[in-house]
Amino acid sequence: MNIIYYEAHNNLYLNLTNRCSADCVFCIRNFADGVYGYDLRLSKEPSSEELIEALEELDLSKYREIVFTGLGEPTLRFDVVLAVTRWLKNRGIRVRLDTNGHAALINPELDVVSELKKAGMDSISVSLNAESEDKYNKLCRPIHKNAYRSMLDFVKGAREAGISTRVTVVKIPEIDVEKCRKLSEELGSEFHIRTLSESASKEIGDKN
Ligand code: SF4
Repeated sequence: MNIIYYEAHNNLYLNLTNRCSADCVFCIRNFADGVYGYDLRLSKEPSSEELIEALEELDLSKYREIVFTGLGEPTLRFDVVLAVTRWLKNRGIRVRLDTNGHAALINPELDVVSELKKAGMDSISVSLNAESEDKYNKLCRPIHKNAYRSMLDFVKGAREAGISTRVTVVKIPEIDVEKCRKLSEELGSEFHIRTLSESASKEIGDKN
């Protein structure tokens, strides 16, 4: 079964892709097929038409927000993110993008922040995950060079464009959470600490 959306935390999450421009050591994709009991492995990535058709069947007013996420990086499907955001915003629904912040590297031909702003994106949640580029590269293993710098620029650009921003870290011993919190303050964004799933914690713990 191809699960292209799922409910959690009073939100509706859209599962756009299983691909990613990073390979984080703690990524859930390495330890499980999904989250909250949903198998999020896609046999086929949904088109914007398929997503909109599915969303039309739902009562979207019952959710706090609709969140682009996925067992992968949504901005690899940037055209879908924009099209579905426009459709949702035309209906007055709150929309968030959960991302690794590599959008500008993935879509170099676009001014990604202004495209998101034009589409009406309300907020973004970006995986910061490390207090330094060196540590980021070791933990997140991005495919693009300068991914850390580009991610920070993405957060700053979004905040300056008036999109509400939050950065997140996962709670693992390698990360200096307080330094990340300070960085988040400098970026002017909110800060959130995520807890690793039990299976991921165990796997990472066993390897250390
Ligand atoms: S950025 Fe997210 S989806 Fe991509 S590898 Fe890291 S944790 Fe997984």
